[in-house]
Amino acid sequence: MENNLALYNTLTRKKEKFEPLNAPFVGLYVCGPTVYSDVHLGNCRTFVSFDLIFRYLLHLGYKVRYVRNITDAGHLEGDRDEGDDKFAKKAKLEQLEPMEIVQKYTLGFHEVLRLFNTLPPSIEPTATGHISEQIEMVKQIIANGYGYERNGTVYFDVEKYVKEHDYTTLTNRKLEDLLNNTRELGGQDEKRGRLDFALWIKAKPEHIMRWPAPWSVGFPGWHIECSAMSSKYLGAQFDIHGGGMDLAATHHTNEIAQSQACNHVQPAKYWMHTNMLTVNGARMSKSAGNGFLPHELFTGQHPLLQRGYSPMAVRFFMMQAHYRSTLDFSNDALDAADKGYKRLMNAIALLDKIKPVATSSTTEFDLDALTNRCYAAMDDDFNSPVLIAELFEVVRFINAAYDGKASVQVADIERLKSFMQTFVEDILGLKDDVLGNGGTDSLDELMQIIIAVRNEAKSNKDFTTSDRIREELQAVGIQLKDSKDGTLWNKI
Ligand code: AMP
Ligand code: ZN
Repeated sequence: MENNLALYNTLTRKKEKFEPLNAPFVGLYVCGPTVYSDVHLGNCRTFVSFDLIFRYLLHLGYKVRYVRNITDAGHLEGDRDEGDDKFAKKAKLEQLEPMEIVQKYTLGFHEVLRLFNTLPPSIEPTATGHISEQIEMVKQIIANGYGYERNGTVYFDVEKYVKEHDYTTLTNRKLEDLLNNTRELGGQDEKRGRLDFALWIKAKPEHIMRWPAPWSVGFPGWHIECSAMSSKYLGAQFDIHGGGMDLAATHHTNEIAQSQACNHVQPAKYWMHTNMLTVNGARMSKSAGNGFLPHELFTGQHPLLQRGYSPMAVRFFMMQAHYRSTLDFSNDALDAADKGYKRLMNAIALLDKIKPVATSSTTEFDLDALTNRCYAAMDDDFNSPVLIAELFEVVRFINAAYDGKASVQVADIERLKSFMQTFVEDILGLKDDVLGNGGTDSLDELMQIIIAVRNEAKSNKDFTTSDRIREELQAVGIQLKDSKDGTLWNKI
């Protein structure tokens, strides 16, 4: 199958032509969320970026099996499976069963990704649903000589592994640096080597999520779940493995080591990593407490936010940055994205209103050349910001045609519609957003009438009416916010 796609492979640190192992089939595995709390906007950036990648591969005609897991087994805090169990801690706090925590935050995750218009993955396996696969893999790693048991806990023998393999192949870090950054083994530490990590952990008496295994009643280490589930659904070797950049150094490094130790192969041909969403330059994270919840962003109810933004405006904001660049969160950047998104949607709506020229006069616009440039942008490692810049060429032309400053024929309008459908809706995943601050939709037009009536009541000092309008809108889920730029509205 022909394609011109080149993607950046973290493993080789260069852009490579995309050549799937078994075209037209493509196996794509993305590390999913740990569902013990709400996903923040940073997590969403990673999943929305992979949605763009998934959509483009589908558009190119590949039959993509997209597997994105749900991390729901009782993992411990910290990259190296130490500390408290995140799920048990949260269950105690919310007075729920750990599995109720899992259910609650999985549903929340799905709802948020639905609002962001992401396509569902082909398979969404859970760690707790694949305990036996993980146990089998740990058994094989031990049988191959790379795992050892200490008091019911099984460790991966990194020291042995590094003798025959490049452990830091993904990040190219020096092993000495890694060792220097890892704390000394304490007196009671049962691990042989400082870099050894847990494959299976014996449960302490208070640990709630536990399963029987040959070594102890316990629970799997974090890294083994992705190795077990990716190989189960995509095979020992598959095309693309993805996740946020923060996962490369430990989680993905250990996944590669486990798969090599178990199956003697590098699991994925291409490793893709999304860059971080930052707030004032610092990575947005659950532990740093600087995480915006998508819901706070949609409603504008957050001390750092001047107002709310619709999910599609936020998706546009994400698409305006390349997935491998950091994206810094600010009110100004969101305002600019909101304006850009509305200009784009407005241009699409204008296509139904433009009067085509009757004669065969020429259209001063080369849509074929522009289409080629759009494909070139996407083929260049999914360069959505360049694609969007090209789309604004079309927006300018549509606006000119609407103003009578450029001429288009009926056939051109149809071609422009199909072009916009392809690049805006199918590939970028942007649709007209009736939920948010509107722009081109009739709900917004209606809201502007209501806001004008309320402003009139306020200027007549009829506060009973203006308050009633605000309260009754609130009751049906619409919030008004008075600002220096006028009254804004959003759905709650
Ligand atoms: P977690 O639920 O913490 O395992 O994270 C789920 C996904 O979100 C992982 O792929 C992380 O790499 C990614 N992620 C976490 N923080 C950010 C961030 N600030 N920006 C982009 N992606 C992130
Ligand atoms: Zn993973």
